[in-house]
Amino acid sequence: MLRDEDRIFKNLYNDNGPDLNSSILRGDWKNTKDICEKGRDWIINEIKSSELRGRGGAGFPTGLKWSFAPKEVGTRPHYLVINADESEPGTCKDRDILRFEPHKLIEGCLIASYAVNAHKCYIYIRGEYFNEGKKLQTAIDEAYEKNLIGKNSSGTGWDLDIYIHYGAGAYICGEETALLESLEGKKGQPRLKPPFPALIGLYGCPTIINNVETIAAVPTILRRGAKWFSSLGREKNTGTKIYCISGNVNNPCNVEEEMGVPLKELIENHAGGVIGGWDNLKAVIPGGSSMPMLPKHICDNMKMDFDACVENKTGLGTAGIVVINNDQDIIKCMARIARFYKHESCGQCTPCREGSGWMWRMLERMAAGEATSDEVDMLMDVTKQIEGHTICAFGEGSAWPVQGLIRHFKDEILERNKFDPIVKKQKNVPYLVDQHLLEKENAEVKS
Ligand code: SF4
Repeated sequence: MLRDEDRIFKNLYNDNGPDLNSSILRGDWKNTKDICEKGRDWIINEIKSSELRGRGGAGFPTGLKWSFAPKEVGTRPHYLVINADESEPGTCKDRDILRFEPHKLIEGCLIASYAVNAHKCYIYIRGEYFNEGKKLQTAIDEAYEKNLIGKNSSGTGWDLDIYIHYGAGAYICGEETALLESLEGKKGQPRLKPPFPALIGLYGCPTIINNVETIAAVPTILRRGAKWFSSLGREKNTGTKIYCISGNVNNPCNVEEEMGVPLKELIENHAGGVIGGWDNLKAVIPGGSSMPMLPKHICDNMKMDFDACVENKTGLGTAGIVVINNDQDIIKCMARIARFYKHESCGQCTPCREGSGWMWRMLERMAAGEATSDEVDMLMDVTKQIEGHTICAFGEGSAWPVQGLIRHFKDEILERNKFDPIVKKQKNVPYLVDQHLLEKENAEVKS
């Protein structure tokens, strides 16, 4: 278990207040000037050696990302953009940082902006986090008042302005290039990459985009040193992470733990255990709804870090752990998730736009026991036609969870849909079910 002195987020449960004075007592804004005076190269190298990987889902090495920003500022200004559009179902870690640890984020913004030569930082918050945004704005105002940011921020000689921008509720705006489009006042639709934002980003200028948790961890890493951070966890999976545990557990919670902590320990020690006991566990979605679920026998010994998740054909994602017990209908759960992705597809790519609806409708039929058994393979085929054939990772995010269901629970789907397909075809059930779903959807849209 992570020792208290190794926690980065010491106010995750708001025991001490998010204001500036309380934050300073916790160690924030200490020696910020000294850190910046060590220079950009030192900061970037230290973050590289800490092996900090982005906490927003992709797990890209943060120091490496920063090093992609041009070394010198040319005719175009550089920007730092913070992705606080936390919309992944099962994930609410950034929310607690925004409202309870805002000064960690603001100090991180200053150091990161300095490292990538940005004088302007935008924090893009999902619109539903209106109250969290207000709290963050209060903290930003406090920081301006004490000259921690603004002109000659913290005495570093660096000018930094921070602006909050609210999104309007689209999940896809969490994708970094859709976020930039939205920030520019356009429809939030992902851009084709390359070019990558580090060279051509916001308003066509070099832009570094990082997740809230990533940037909020930076000041502590630089104060305590890359060695300390990398001593936690294991190689390439270092440091601590905020895990969000929800679903069929007795005590849903957010908890900061060491990377690589056993999944069972997180659920049993921090979340009060699975409702009905560990043996009542059916499956776990380990990294937010876009990651493939894992059945109980894998969860028994699973460790929670990037590489362990990949070894088990899933992903750490945002570390939004959703626990599903035997009281749930696993196919219905997946149909519900598929419906979410169908609704949130931005519609630019045909495989994603059409495929997400296909997957949802087929899963609804399967949940109702009205599909044909050959449709299970067809559904897998649809996921393969989406995966890798779209502009952004949303395609994979909608296809992988369905693949996870089929990989681990195919027998259950077949068992429920075992009746003679010819009889079903005669009844024209698929058409009727589709029609029923469309009517339901239309009614909801109208209301
Ligand atoms: Fe839009 Fe989906 Fe294509 Fe991403 S994959 S750009 S969400 S249609």
